[in-house]
Amino acid sequence: METENRKTDYLILVNKQNPLPDDWSERIDTVHCTNSLGMDVEAEITAYEAYLKLKEDLENDDIIVDLDSALRSKEIQEQIAADFTKEYGEEYTAKIVAVPGYSEHHTGLALDLYLNVNGEDIYFNFEMMEYAPLWEKIHQRITDYGFILRYPREREHITGYVYEPWHIRYVGCEAAREIHDQKLTLEEYLKGEREYVPLIDYGHSELYTAEELREMAILIKCRFAAWRGCHLRSLAYAGNGEKTVFVMKYVTDTDSEEKEGSWFLRKTTRGDWVIDRYLASE
Ligand SMILES: [Zn+2]
Repeated sequence: METENRKTDYLILVNKQNPLPDDWSERIDTVHCTNSLGMDVEAEITAYEAYLKLKEDLENDDIIVDLDSALRSKEIQEQIAADFTKEYGEEYTAKIVAVPGYSEHHTGLALDLYLNVNGEDIYFNFEMMEYAPLWEKIHQRITDYGFILRYPREREHITGYVYEPWHIRYVGCEAAREIHDQKLTLEEYLKGEREYVPLIDYGHSELYTAEELREMAILIKCRFAAWRGCHLRSLAYAGNGEKTVFVMKYVTDTDSEEKEGSWFLRKTTRGDWVIDRYLASE
């Protein structure tokens, strides 16, 4: 896109393994806007201009979106983490809120959208999830404006995050097209290598629903995404002793021999699944 800023690296990777570079704020120009909820939103200028074009295109089809959150400073991320901890406890916060310094929102290139359906703003995550066909239509358009769906389904072991239909990331049109057409994650695109597709075996359980087992596996995959140089091969539900167990196999960049270990999970009194510990097999 001709308006791209030369000092800004639109392919910057910030995830659970890669923190935001210290000088990043000097490498972007930002812009402020006010969303329909009256909140001030700050974003990187090229990403914001691309978003405006996307928004206009969607409006021609009566799809109304707005910007919930874009650029977040480390200080704001710290505040969010503190608020969540107070409200929901440490375990839940660790699951849902990025560690300050490691959130893609620090780049200003990640945008969280919300919907307006029949004149009503839909901005709570669980509510937005109910509009799958609408999100599908939105996702079909974002590539043309240089955005990718950053956290697609079943890629948690690479991205570190569960499917978020509202979180789009500006990478520029060329990269967006390639990432979309080749069904890659940003991580794979930058590495120039496709990740192995792990085998996930939910086994059979009389204790848990398929949905619960899926949720547990996602939790493990999100945690695994922080393991540097490691690649997931398989994850299998191995039943219930004192704790719920998943057996994991993985390889590393330097050793192609499979390693194995077990994840132990439990349910909190709040009803959330949490990881208790990981135990490597001998
Ligand atoms: Zn987001």
